[in-house]
Amino acid sequence: MQIKGLLLDIDGVLVDAGRSVPRGPEALRALASEGVPYRLVSNSSQRSRRALAMRLQSMGYSVDTEEIFTPAVAAARFLVSKRASAYLAVRDEAKEDFQEVGVREDDRRPRYVVLGDMGEDVTYGRLNRILRFLLGGSQLIALGRTRIWRAPDGPALDVGPFVALFEEATGRQAIVFGKPEPKMFEEAAHSMRLKLGDVAMVGDDADVDVAAAKRAGAGLGVLVRTGKYRPGDEARYDPPPDEVHDSFPDFVDHFLSAVRSAAGSP
Ligand SMILES: [Mg+2]
Repeated sequence: MQIKGLLLDIDGVLVDAGRSVPRGPEALRALASEGVPYRLVSNSSQRSRRALAMRLQSMGYSVDTEEIFTPAVAAARFLVSKRASAYLAVRDEAKEDFQEVGVREDDRRPRYVVLGDMGEDVTYGRLNRILRFLLGGSQLIALGRTRIWRAPDGPALDVGPFVALFEEATGRQAIVFGKPEPKMFEEAAHSMRLKLGDVAMVGDDADVDVAAAKRAGAGLGVLVRTGKYRPGDEARYDPPPDEVHDSFPDFVDHFLSAVRSAAGSP
């Protein structure tokens, strides 16, 4: 199988414990100079992709904003393709991912409500406003189902519990973007004009990154032994990874030597 593009998880793969992994920036540059298309795939719904790109740049990575793919980016592409209006229940700094592609905001009769991590912006009034949109016929789009994230001062509610709250209240399921949902991997591949079957997913989570991408149809699932990896993860989930490497740069070394030998063979 020939892999034509890569989906790279950010936390635990490019970044570990708040800094870039050793040789990470050089490995990403090597992929770019070899002409391998890639997307950096994160489940974060707190920040815009421009803010994520700036964070990676501060750690030494050469990253363009367009190379970052988040649930908000996937949802914005979906809304534009449907020419649909939306009420954006996300942090203000996450709104620009929708605004820059021209999603029409509507706070009267939106066709969709986009629910992300609202952080301190959550109020009972705002929750009921969303509830009333949904009871009036708007459809809920969730930017993931992550339950808890680790804030600097301790565990904090992520978007998942709020998705469950509205599903319980309305009896209707949300459309969910974000890993491990198949749509997230598909949209990320399509944003490179590739089919998911021609793409490899590289992650530190054997379940949510690797097994989920393979179930969705990714051509190759690669587990790296950094970030949240724990010994035994290779065999813990179904399907298991196709390849396991000690780190993202080790994977890139292996991948590029295969690309070069394929290009050099008659
Ligand atoms: Mg990760």
